[in-house]
Amino acid sequence: MDPQEELRELIAQAKEHLCYYSELGLTHVGEISPSAAPAAKFEDRIAKQAPPAVSALVEPKRQEPPAPAIIPPPQFIPESTITMPTKQENASVVSLFGETAPPPAETQYSNETLEDIRRDLGDCQRCKLFSTRTNLVFGEGAPRAELMFVGEGPGADEDATGRPFVGRAGQLLTKMIEAIDLKREDVYIANVVKSRPPGNRAPESDEVRACIPFLFRQIAAIHPKLIVALGNPAMQALLDTKIGITKMRGNFQDYPRISGIKVLPTFHPAYLLRSPDKKREAWEDLKKVRAFLRGEL
Ligand code: URA
Repeated sequence: MDPQEELRELIAQAKEHLCYYSELGLTHVGEISPSAAPAAKFEDRIAKQAPPAVSALVEPKRQEPPAPAIIPPPQFIPESTITMPTKQENASVVSLFGETAPPPAETQYSNETLEDIRRDLGDCQRCKLFSTRTNLVFGEGAPRAELMFVGEGPGADEDATGRPFVGRAGQLLTKMIEAIDLKREDVYIANVVKSRPPGNRAPESDEVRACIPFLFRQIAAIHPKLIVALGNPAMQALLDTKIGITKMRGNFQDYPRISGIKVLPTFHPAYLLRSPDKKREAWEDLKKVRAFLRGEL
């Protein structure tokens, strides 16, 4: 490639990478986007969300590795900002179901494959969500992924396609994954419940109880190093806690069922679409994910 062409290519790559940061709310480095809405409670359901303040709806493009000058170097995260929990802070101290004992542990390594688990799930009718769903959304991605993302449950687009995180929030999630130099197919994406709660309401506790064993089995089969819990329902189900996401986000936790697996809670992409001022904190969390996977933490 001649030098001019190479330069043009580099500029194009740098532009595309800057777009990621823009999508993550980093257009105004060092300040908060003036259009940002005030923080809102996650419990306000996705159905009530205002349209995103940034154009998070464009088709995600496969990215080439970004130009070196544009990528924030790993040391961008000061060690002192990475919080590992103490034993006392570990989330299972306050149980979601009012228990004091830790949840029963899975065996360290599962002999099951994801196909075994999918087969067992079948045309699931273990809770009332089956009667309103179109497609069951099992999860997708690399069966040996080091990184897993867990959301709360399928929305309309996921219900229609049978694939997790393919709607607006899913497109933002894809950008978040690519912003830490991974591809969507490198990770595994799943949900707490596999059938869509009507009207995008939060899954109810009986629905979570019926479905969560399948997520636990997926985690045991994949055995990731790190699970990113997206939003309150995912974090609370994975960590068996009642503590809220605002308090927990950005703090590594031990996955209570299998030792050696960490959980990092962060905001749900649907919440980020509605509250773009929170993308800065989500970006801080994503940098911790990247540093953790690179063995820098
Ligand atoms: N929100 C979720 O929590 N999961 C999906 O799969 C899509 C949107």
